Amino acid sequence: MTTYPEEDLLPISALQHLAFCERQCALIHLEHLWGENRLTAEGRLLHEKAHEGPDEARNDVRTERGVALRSSSLGLFGIADVIEYRQSMSGTWQPYPVEYKRGRPKANRCDELQLCAQALCLEEMNKVAIPTGALFYGQPRRRKEITFDEVLRTLTRDCARRLHTLFERGRTPPARFEKKCESCSLMHLCLPKVTGVGKDVQSYLRRMLAE
Ligand code: SF4
Repeated sequence: MTTYPEEDLLPISALQHLAFCERQCALIHLEHLWGENRLTAEGRLLHEKAHEGPDEARNDVRTERGVALRSSSLGLFGIADVIEYRQSMSGTWQPYPVEYKRGRPKANRCDELQLCAQALCLEEMNKVAIPTGALFYGQPRRRKEITFDEVLRTLTRDCARRLHTLFERGRTPPARFEKKCESCSLMHLCLPKVTGVGKDVQSYLRRMLAE
């Protein structure tokens, strides 16, 4: 089994960017470009709020916020918004990760993948199986329970491997304009209609002048 040394660990947040768009991931994490729009600003504030506040203990649930995570087998590190530790019948504490998201559940599996990566880190750190966790969405303000089944675990491990390959190559893939580009915070820096596969700047300028 591959294990990554401390200096090669990559952020879990990059995994979510990679799952959304490999080019977006490279622009943010290799080229260090970041474009904040209303959606990302709201998301950032929500995470900051989730990390604030005291840890709590109520009956058979202990809640910890802003928990540091790492996995040397996936080569990832990060911070979980909230980990609930639920006491089982046998008296052991079962970790249950909860990640906060603005907006609605998405059509893609990026959020589930990020949560699953957190669960895999926790499993490695605590030597315990974690079957479920939850995504808390702002609209509607509701939890959605996620099961970490084999399909999701495999997707997450594959994505972590692709992330390491992207960092090893150190090259930003070309743009490919798709519907998702319209909600991408890096659209104005990426310019997928200009720089996309098979596109060149001159024909783009000709088109713009003709309009
Ligand atoms: S604009 Fe489109 S191609 Fe460019 S980074 Fe965003 S999602 Fe990827």
